[in-house]
Amino acid sequence: MSAGETPAPGRESELAEALASTRARMAAAVTDAGREPAGVRLVVVTKNFPRSDLDALVRLGVRDVGENKEQELTAKMGEAPLPEDVRVHFIGQLQSRKSGAVARVADVVHSVDRVKLVGALARGAEAAGRRLTVLLQVSLDGDPQRGGALPADVPALADAVASAGLTLGGVMAVAPLGEEPRAAFARLREVSERLRVDHPGAVEISAGMSGDLEAAIHEGATLLRVGTAILGSRPSHR
Ligand SMILES: *Cc1c(COP(=O)(O)O)cnc(C)c1O
Repeated sequence: MSAGETPAPGRESELAEALASTRARMAAAVTDAGREPAGVRLVVVTKNFPRSDLDALVRLGVRDVGENKEQELTAKMGEAPLPEDVRVHFIGQLQSRKSGAVARVADVVHSVDRVKLVGALARGAEAAGRRLTVLLQVSLDGDPQRGGALPADVPALADAVASAGLTLGGVMAVAPLGEEPRAAFARLREVSERLRVDHPGAVEISAGMSGDLEAAIHEGATLLRVGTAILGSRPSHR
């Protein structure tokens, strides 16, 4: 164990079991969708859970972990280094004054939804000597409160990311409330296809959480962001 408190007895086997059943759900959906297993990666969202859980997941073979708050991300990453091959994903809403701090520790930022964030991310990554991959968060319901760029604003945002020296990885979305997720993810897939005309390397589609990962896999998701199904219900604070 690299740092932090010792996990409660049984926690690691609980996580192993939940991870196995999530991987089984993924495998079934991948088969159903006629896709290749290697085309879908699992990002385990460890927000609101301690670093000891993250370390246990890494021991269990998880290589992509996600956080949604800058402060929690920075604190957890400050505890001890992660193995070189673990990728850190930032999936939460970004504030421009916190973007530099995120860029210094994250490998992938999923939630870039306005040009204003791009400069700070690029400067943070450069200062840390890191290559940062950026996904464009797309709003699938047009509600600005929930984050995400409108599909019509994606091309300009993509160009801003690419010309800032960041790696444009693709798109991300959260399924809107009150809509069948598969229909919403189908719109994300169209946004992705249009984006790839000008940016052929932007192949990632980050979609699908605990409740809707099958729908996302059917609509081409390459990155799933799963928390609750693996770690359990989030404690509100600890
Ligand atoms: C918390 C979170 C997730 C994970 O959601 P679960 O329902 O716990 O799997 C995925 N994406 C984002 C943006 C999140 O904030």
